[in-house]
Formats: sequence, C-alpha cells, structure tokens
Amino acid sequence: MAEIIIYPVLALVGQEEMKTALILAAINPRVRGVLLMGPRGTGKTTAARGLVDLLPPVPRSTCPHGCEPRLAAISMEYVCPDCAAKLEAGKDVTYLAPMQLVELPLNANMDDVIGGPNPRIALEQSRWQLQQGVLYYAHRNMLYVDEINLLDEEIVNCILDAASRGYYVVRRGRLIGTFSSEFLLIGSMNPEEGALRPQLMDRLGLRVVVVPLQDPEQRLEVYERNRRFADDPVTFAAGYAEETMALADEIARAKDLLPRVTVSPNVAQSAITLINSLNIQSHRAEIVLLEAARARAAADGRTEAKSEDIAVTSPLALRQRRSDFMERFVTDSQEEDERIAKGIDEILGNEEA
Ligand SMILES: [Zn+2]
Repeated sequence: MAEIIIYPVLALVGQEEMKTALILAAINPRVRGVLLMGPRGTGKTTAARGLVDLLPPVPRSTCPHGCEPRLAAISMEYVCPDCAAKLEAGKDVTYLAPMQLVELPLNANMDDVIGGPNPRIALEQSRWQLQQGVLYYAHRNMLYVDEINLLDEEIVNCILDAASRGYYVVRRGRLIGTFSSEFLLIGSMNPEEGALRPQLMDRLGLRVVVVPLQDPEQRLEVYERNRRFADDPVTFAAGYAEETMALADEIARAKDLLPRVTVSPNVAQSAITLINSLNIQSHRAEIVLLEAARARAAADGRTEAKSEDIAVTSPLALRQRRSDFMERFVTDSQEEDERIAKGIDEILGNEEA
C-alpha cells in the first residue's frame, strides 16, 4: 500500500510562531494543545498534519482491552487476566509505536466522537455493540480538529473534557465504559466564519494568529515549494528528512528533560504580575504560560526557565484571554460587595453596640 506523503512541517515558509507553538505543545501536554486562528490557505492544516512526523513514539498496549502497566500499578483489577499473568511473569504488555494523526471529520456527531452502535452487529445480530469513535483512536495520538468554531458546542466540550481528564465515559442504558484518552489536541479556525465561545476558547492552551505572509519573495517561495511537492512528493519530503529527524530527536530529548525543569520563584512572580497587568481573569493563563516556559527551557536543554522563556511564550499563552465582560463583572461585583459591607456596618454594626 502506498503511504501518503505528508508535506514536511519544516518546508513551511515563515510562520515561526506557529511552528514554535506546535513544538512546545508536543513537548509538554500540560500546555493543553494549540489553537490556530487565521484565514484559509495560510498553512494551518499543513502545519498540524506535518507535526506528526516530529512526535516521539509512544507505548501502546498489545491487548485489545488496552491494558497498560500504569493501570496495573494502580490495581491488578484494571487489567485483564491475560495481561495480569503476563505482567506477573515480568513480560511486557506494551510496545513503542509512532504517534498517528487522527482528524475529526467535519460535521461529526456525538456518536462519531465517543462511539455509537455498531451498525453491522445491530443489523445481523440485533444487539448493541459499541463502535468506537474518534476519541478512542486519538488515545496516545494527535487529534486535529479543523474548523473547531463551527462544531456543535456539546462536541467541543466533550473533546476538551476528554483531553483534560485523560479519559472519557460512554453510557448506554445500564452499560458504562471508561476509555483512556490522552492526546495532543490541535484546533484550527477561521475567525471570519464565526467565533469560538470564550469558555471553550479558555480551555485551549496556546493561541497562534496565523498571518498571511507579506514578503513577495516568501510568497513566491511558498508557491515554488508547493509546485515541487506536487511534482514529486517523495523527493521533496526526502529533502527535509534529515532535518525532520534531527528536530524529532530534539523534541524527544526535551520531553525527557521536562520533568526536571523548574521555574524560579522570581520568574514565576513576574509572569503572574504580567498576567495581572493584562487583567486576565482565568487561572488557566498562568498554568499555560508557566508550562509553555518550562517546555521552551527543555527544548533549549536547560533545567530552569528564564524570563526570556516567559517573554517568548507570553503572546502564545495570553492572547485572546482577557474578557471585557469578566472585567466589568468582577469590578461591578466588588463594588456591590463594598456597598453590602458598608450597609452591614452602618445598620447591623450599630445594633450590636
Ligand atoms: Zn489485557
């Protein structure tokens, strides 16, 4: 079977911020994915698809039930008898495999996402059997959701819940199934076609505004590379293979280093001061910013994040987070609380005395 050749992410002209965001998200899952915002035809989908070549291999279960040593470490009840026997005999129940790109189809419904009745089994045996959805296949993979702003809100919520919890639940009558769902989430949207609700947007980590290239030479280079790729994708991709492998190695090394990367208290403090000065309400802002700064330090081979890491990652972590509504809401309610406190003091305080 011929393999589909993916346009190498390194062959994208310019768009450095988009590449940085995708790499940081690949290094550190705690940045909670990336949202790419921009007009059509600016390479958002190409970049997201190309990222899969840079992701280090992940352990996968050899068992159809998805048994893993980390589940057995919690309790042997979480693995099937076969795997329990294997683990007790010191055998492995996982193997290393490359991460895959899973794309949510446009117009996906809830059954497509969490799974629904298997139509063949339903027809032939008139019984209900779960046919797994996109979230099942996204586990330990990368999930790309194009036009996330046009999706049903319930579906976006469900995907964001699964991404943040690392599992999701399928309920059908008395049947309940829980499935693991750790994945790297990349969403893209064209703001011209509609906004993403702030509470959904808040749950996506890094935000990139993908601006079309202005430089005529760069634009011509985009055309040239696309033409060469269309003529001969194999040779074109091979030209970037060495560089791609080197970057994939760097990402793998950064991932290994990440657990040891710290942020010194004064650097963390300046990050919080910056967030406060911008009147950003959501505490997700500091989580995303500090985790992105740690990822950048790891990418640079350092075990301590510096102010420079905060400076570079701040636009990615903080843009589109300030809400006029929340700012007004908080000020109004503080003023109201002050009036209530004053009233209590004046009316009830006097009665006490
Ligand atoms: Zn098993």
